[in-house]
Amino acid sequence: MSSLGLALVTGASRGIGAAIAEKLAQTGFKVLINYQSNEAKALEVKTRIESQGGSADVIRFDVGDDVQVTEAFKKIAANDEPLRVLVNNAGISRDQLVLRLDPKDLMEVLQINLLGAIYCSKEAAKLMLKQRQGSIIQMSSVVGEMGNAGQTAYAASKAGLIGVTKSLARELASRSIRVNCVTPGYIETEMTDALTPQQKEAIVKNIPLGTLGLASDVASLVAFLAGPDSRYMTGQVLGVNGGLYI
Ligand code: NAP
Repeated sequence: MSSLGLALVTGASRGIGAAIAEKLAQTGFKVLINYQSNEAKALEVKTRIESQGGSADVIRFDVGDDVQVTEAFKKIAANDEPLRVLVNNAGISRDQLVLRLDPKDLMEVLQINLLGAIYCSKEAAKLMLKQRQGSIIQMSSVVGEMGNAGQTAYAASKAGLIGVTKSLARELASRSIRVNCVTPGYIETEMTDALTPQQKEAIVKNIPLGTLGLASDVASLVAFLAGPDSRYMTGQVLGVNGGLYI
């Protein structure tokens, strides 16, 4: 399979990121699987992709550390193939009612989810500007659109990504770099495994399609935004939420 170029997916060792990495590899990109600590899981994703005839590599860095991000992008720039796609998927949650919110948790969530996406977008844009093409996709959340009690920090980081998307889309459009945002609802991953059965039941009651989503539902939209079929789309915020937020 000839490669369409590189697609970097942050936080691709598990969950939604792993599904995106596999989908992008299936569509012909060479995928760079970023992770922070879970090397074994990241290598499993690489092996799965290769066993399906795709091409992938793993790359460790903490998206919330601007020095590590800069170093990682130096390695990416030295690759034979150009960077065509960045998916800012890495994210964490530290949920707490605001009165109990620890400033350290608040800072960590913003550092990884919001600043991390900005650091990576900045470095990716440097490479894509030279090529005059590229697609950047931010992984926000329905929580960034509608808010959620107990998720002030997470919601702030995810709502922030919508502003980042719209600003970068305006800034980079003249060089044919598109920037779009995906807002998943509740998707079955380790992040939602943390919910109690009662919490899940309460959530499902409010989802018109009556079920949680799958990582593959998000991956399909990301693959569309990464590729040429979405060539006339930029600055958009697209939900994959079973109708939870309309
Ligand atoms: P997950 O299963 O918890 O996986 C998180 C991924 O992010 C892991 O690969 C993890 O790497 C990586 N990561 C965490 N901190 C990082 C850092 N500082 N630098 C680099 N990588 C880091 O999460 P998920 O449920 O798949 O969610 C993926 C994205 O979708 C997140 O941005 C999340 O906010 C968003 N989202 C999820 C849902 C949902 O229902 N699941 C809904 C809306 C939005 P390691 O394995 O190395 O720790």
